[in-house]
This record gives sequence, C-alpha cells and structure tokens, in this order.
Amino acid sequence: MIRVVTLDPFDDKQLAKFNRTLYTAFGVGSEHSGSAEVPSGMSEPLDAEKLLDEVKGIRAYKDDKVLLLTSRKLKDRELPSGKAPTVGFARYGKDRAVLTIAPYKDLETGYKAIARHALHQLGTLWELHHCLDPRCSMYPPWTPSFNQGDHIFCTFCREKSEQKIRLAKS
Ligand SMILES: [Zn+2]
Repeated sequence: MIRVVTLDPFDDKQLAKFNRTLYTAFGVGSEHSGSAEVPSGMSEPLDAEKLLDEVKGIRAYKDDKVLLLTSRKLKDRELPSGKAPTVGFARYGKDRAVLTIAPYKDLETGYKAIARHALHQLGTLWELHHCLDPRCSMYPPWTPSFNQGDHIFCTFCREKSEQKIRLAKS
C-alpha cells in the first residue's frame, strides 16, 4: 500500500482527499501513516536525495511505497537542460519518494498539480518510465504544461502500474 508520511503539519481532510486520489489512480490502499522529522541540520531548501536516505522512524512493510510530504521547498537539481525546480524525487523501483507542495500554501490550493506530481513520483517507484502522452502524469514533470494536466495516467501507464502492483503482491 501507499503510506503518506508528513514532514510538516497538514490538514486532515485535505490529506484524506489526497489519499483517495492516490487510491483511485493506483487501485491500491493509501493512508496517512503518521509524521516524521526532518533530520536536524537540514535546512530549507531541503536536499531531496539526502532526505530519502536520512529520514528516520518510518514504519513500512515490504512492498509498501512511502511518499514523504513536505511544505518546505526542495533544492533545485541539475538537469542536462539546466537547473530545474524540484517538486519531487523518487528512485526508480525503490520504496521511497519525496514531494513538496511548495510554492502552494496547502494541498487544496495546488491540488491538481500536486496530485499529478504525486502520481508521477509513485509511478517511478513502481517502475514507470516517462511517457510521451502529454495528458499522462508520467509526462516529463519539468515541462511547462505539466502542472496544467489532470492527475491521471494514460491507459498504457495505468495498466503497467497495475501489473507491477500485482507482481509485488504475489
Ligand atoms: Zn502514460
């Protein structure tokens, strides 16, 4: 299942809606699994890769995917095309990703874009690749149009994620 672990305070109702969106997208349970501390000494903007390595106290079982959610900014990353603002980061096929709601003040304000980025990061954990369909959440997230899209997958990516989730369970 998907475990959302918060690193900052979030509104419970907004989190519940967010979990329903993740459940709808992946067909797998999603719940707020408590909070964790940003390691002492780490300041904003947070280093996404370091966060994934160093956040402690996450309770997760085998095959769970953990999404760390923060309202703090993440440090820009160097891409071949230059510096890109980092909304989220996930290691392909692993069990943890991080997502920021910045620059929005809460989940609700930026809901569509935040949910779309969440699908993208969790999709990466389930080994989805970037997708050429601009409507799909696996479309490259640094493209200017990405934030305008819906939090959905194309048929191909949806089927691939369902297949990966089934394989992980068996
Ligand atoms: Zn797709």
